[in-house]
Amino acid sequence: MTATPFTATILGSPRIGPNRELKRAVEKYWAGGCDRSELESVAATLRRDTWEALVAAGLDSVPVNTFSYYDHVLDTAVMVGALPSRVAGIEEELDRYFAAARGNDDVAPLEMTKWFDTNYHYIVPELGPDTRFALNAAKVLAELKEATALGVPARPVIVGPITFLALCKAVGGAGAPIGRLDELVAVYAELLGELADAGAAWVQLDEPALVTDILGDTAELAERTYTTLGRVTERPALFVATYFGELTDALPALARTPVEAVGVDLVAGGVSAVAAVPELAGKTLVAGVVDGRNVWRTNLQSALGTLATLLGLADHVAVSTSCSTLHVPYSLEVEDGLDADLRSWLAFGSEKVTEVVALARGINAGREAISADVAASNAAIASRRSDPRLTNGDVRARIASITASGTARGPAEARRAAQQKLLKLPVLPTTTIGSYPQTSAIRVARAELRSGTIDRAEYERRMKAEIAEVIRLQEDLGIDVLVHGEPERNDMVQYFAEQLDGFFATQNGWVQSYGSRCVRPPILYGDVARPKPMTVDWISYAQSLTDKPVKGMLTGPVTILAWSFVRDDQPLAQTAAQVALAIRDETVDLQAAGIAIIQVDEPALRELLPLRAKDKDAYLQWAVDAFRLSTSGVSDTTQIHTHLCYSEFGEIIGAIADLDADVTSIEAARSHMEVLNDLNAIGFSNSVGPGVYDIHSPRVPSVEEMVTSLREALQAVPAERLWVNPDCGLKTRKTDEVRASLRNMVAAAHEVRGAHGG
Ligand code: GLN
Ligand code: ZN
Repeated sequence: MTATPFTATILGSPRIGPNRELKRAVEKYWAGGCDRSELESVAATLRRDTWEALVAAGLDSVPVNTFSYYDHVLDTAVMVGALPSRVAGIEEELDRYFAAARGNDDVAPLEMTKWFDTNYHYIVPELGPDTRFALNAAKVLAELKEATALGVPARPVIVGPITFLALCKAVGGAGAPIGRLDELVAVYAELLGELADAGAAWVQLDEPALVTDILGDTAELAERTYTTLGRVTERPALFVATYFGELTDALPALARTPVEAVGVDLVAGGVSAVAAVPELAGKTLVAGVVDGRNVWRTNLQSALGTLATLLGLADHVAVSTSCSTLHVPYSLEVEDGLDADLRSWLAFGSEKVTEVVALARGINAGREAISADVAASNAAIASRRSDPRLTNGDVRARIASITASGTARGPAEARRAAQQKLLKLPVLPTTTIGSYPQTSAIRVARAELRSGTIDRAEYERRMKAEIAEVIRLQEDLGIDVLVHGEPERNDMVQYFAEQLDGFFATQNGWVQSYGSRCVRPPILYGDVARPKPMTVDWISYAQSLTDKPVKGMLTGPVTILAWSFVRDDQPLAQTAAQVALAIRDETVDLQAAGIAIIQVDEPALRELLPLRAKDKDAYLQWAVDAFRLSTSGVSDTTQIHTHLCYSEFGEIIGAIADLDADVTSIEAARSHMEVLNDLNAIGFSNSVGPGVYDIHSPRVPSVEEMVTSLREALQAVPAERLWVNPDCGLKTRKTDEVRASLRNMVAAAHEVRGAHGG
């Protein structure tokens, strides 16, 4: 293996297209609006443009096979022959692939979940007792060939075998996926041979699982896997990339194997761990010093310092991003409306590539070669540090004083009694989670407002008409606690970010969330403050239309942080408290406007859970503190709800109880009994609304099935603590489905209520 070491690279790049070209093309293909060849040509153009830009910017090793029509974990499942048998019968390859990702009329899709602690969702491969691994290297070989033909110094990127198995789900009684490591490694060994035959000099195997505690003893797994792969005689040089955290024992383990390069995330971890591993000396150390997942400009001077330390430790040091830039927008160039200072603090995908190249030049040609870049970086950092928007003394003082006086509410039992006296709700009250269908009228109004066809007043008039419609629907259905339906919200985080100081909402900062879905995370850059109420007018308007209580609807601090790019110059806990204060002020204003029930959604509570066990308690502590800060400003008669989008609580179950919301609505994809028993087991004694039907499917649930699940729930939770609701917001559904489903839900509640004195 005498591949030339490279000096400047990134671990992967965005693929959805600078103008979301791939999103449009796949959606058109799904809708039957174009054939496979048209889709393939869009994809090939995007790949070529990406590679050529990376070469032109100065990378001497370019990641390929990072393109995907849907998801790179699903691509890996295809590569190793691990698609479930239910899609095997689908003749056409691309349709089979999309069926696995999204399902079709006949087959259920694979599940989707978060890629480590990011907001990207991957497709969860299923491993059953009958899954037989078999190599299908067509995709990676084709991309390698395509890139090589263009003269690109291509380095195929593939999810490594340990990480792949860590992310798989065992089905049909199969044992833990990691038990099949040796079998899978044999497939990867075969793959290495094919890549060598195709002329690959290097291959990157991504092993972020090695920075987590998902698999327990990762050191042994790493050593076993990469010793075996290292022994393959005809193979490309091996680069094992790790990211999203610090490698502990797995680093010396990898160093003992014959791999040629190891990548470490030096944004998430420090150099000291690397310095402690003398065996790295003979290898290329790929130093992830440029943050691949946040948007801040790199401090080139301190990165050079880090690189200088590393130069003494390894044969070669290559400069890289800490992880794939899949997680940041393409380029700052297309972002208008940013003030010059803020712009100078940022680096999106293409700017990060420039930073990597500059740093590589700095260590290879000497610091003087990049003195202008360093000066510009220093100036930007100085401007950011001294910007008055970064500190709001008022906000900081208020947080300190509120925290000092405590954020506990009165005893839950007494709160329940006081609220019930005021609200007089029937037993098993019915409600929904917040959003109602995003109708085409709403989308049209938003587009017309953006293009200037209508003004703000007209837009608000149309949104109010939507609210009135949703209130009327809920009254017709006989729902007990109403919502306004959230028509005015483009997104549950962006909506608030646009109204808060300290956030910048981008125009074009699209990032792939999953498949063809993209989001524009706001950038949280300074101290957060709420200049004025954000939701009170809308909710008050909704409340003015009905005698039933309307539930105010807010997004919680942890979720706002999780779905934004956050500042990196202070602890997350501090930023969370500032967002919490803004939400707290909103709850107080809602209460003053006569709103008796307020829901603070925290669907992302579990997502931000750190990857290492040792960091989890501290996170849960500040997450709970932030939620309590945001919800303890109201009186005990105001009922606080929260909503969580999952029923696998695992490690966060204690935190859910600590949130101390009066009512918690949760998904109940498993059975009600399981979910409620889990909660009971830890002494959870507040009210709970386990979703009685799945809103992720268009199916209308019958009255009987919801009666059955309510009766089941009543075996675990007394009637006075049980709520009746769907398992999430209704924005992705059609109005007809919603009407039919909710009618049945209300009927089910009435039927069960009869037996409980309601
Ligand atoms: N209130 C939000 C809605 O109903 C909650 C969304 C969520 O849980 N992600 O849409
Ligand atoms: Zn939800």
